[in-house]
Amino acid sequence: MSLGMNKKPDQLQSIPPYCPNFRCQFHHGTDYKFYVKNGCIKTERPPTKNQRYLCKSCKTQFSANTFTLDFRKRIAAISEQVLHYSMNGMSNNSIARLLDVAEGTVRTRLKEMGHQSLLFEKEHLPDKLNEDVAYDGFETFTYSQFSPCYVNTAVGSHSMFIYHNTFSPLNRKGRMTNDQKIKNQNLLKEFGPYPRDSVFKESLYVLKNLALIGAGRTLFTDEHKSYLRAVKSFDFKMNHQTIHSTVRRDPSNPLFPINRLHNLYRHFFSSQHRETISFQKHEAALLEKIQLMKIYRNFMNAKFVKKNKFDPHAHEWSPAMYIGVADKILKFRDIFGIRRMRTQIRLDSKEVSFMNRQYPYSRQKIAA
Ligand SMILES: [Zn+2]
Repeated sequence: MSLGMNKKPDQLQSIPPYCPNFRCQFHHGTDYKFYVKNGCIKTERPPTKNQRYLCKSCKTQFSANTFTLDFRKRIAAISEQVLHYSMNGMSNNSIARLLDVAEGTVRTRLKEMGHQSLLFEKEHLPDKLNEDVAYDGFETFTYSQFSPCYVNTAVGSHSMFIYHNTFSPLNRKGRMTNDQKIKNQNLLKEFGPYPRDSVFKESLYVLKNLALIGAGRTLFTDEHKSYLRAVKSFDFKMNHQTIHSTVRRDPSNPLFPINRLHNLYRHFFSSQHRETISFQKHEAALLEKIQLMKIYRNFMNAKFVKKNKFDPHAHEWSPAMYIGVADKILKFRDIFGIRRMRTQIRLDSKEVSFMNRQYPYSRQKIAA
């Protein structure tokens, strides 16, 4: 689908950029002045004036606020701080205390930014891979140690661009104390096991997406059976190379980029574990943060903090710049300055579930 919004972020700053009516011919953006001004509304909070518009084509009325992240929000302009604090490892509770807002406010902002960042990302994916890709799962848990999970990660060998993050619940195995065994049995009795082929299915999803843009490139994985099964289960157009898991993961190991990223995850996740009301209470909140981290690392930060003599641009180029989907490190407003609507972007079923926060296997009730 060709989107009028598929422009450089700077060009997106003019408001209104599109008609919010999804049936309207101008819903996907246009250079044509499709609206007329339609009076102003005074608002209590800044900006105290909200310009109203009328679409010339479909006669829908809307206002300047329609296109901002603070649309229908009581507390404006905290999203940027919430994002930075969260991505640098602060828990939702700490952020709430620091900004003097409710914890639920922080949670809502993260959810919305997570959803917005998926829509942004869909408009900024490469047509063709210019590098090889490493793939592996990062093991953590949601809610408690009885719900371990994999965050399946595909990362560019050179760029460190995170192409995909998907989620697989795992069934707890291995050593447990007697009490833990009883608790685990009770959970299984109440909820049943998590789907057993999730790692396979999620890997298949990632591989199919990579294969669309990666013919001739190489995918590196370890020898996990589910990865091998996924590679063999369709006409995978990429080369596949397995690296034995006992091979040292130093910089010469093709799976090294994965380890580097997983170290960041480990740091991030451990900071979140300290508080009982952590983001990992529900799969949805975890995935929204993982999605945000993807955008944050791919587009909003340099590949490395420090200079690297083998990679002269590493401290000044974002991963997105390496793969040619951005020409500078993007700022908050470049990504979140204009609110996107999900009716503007074609989403697959997994992405629709993400937007709807549907996780049928979840053992936790989802908070709004
Ligand atoms: Zn319209």
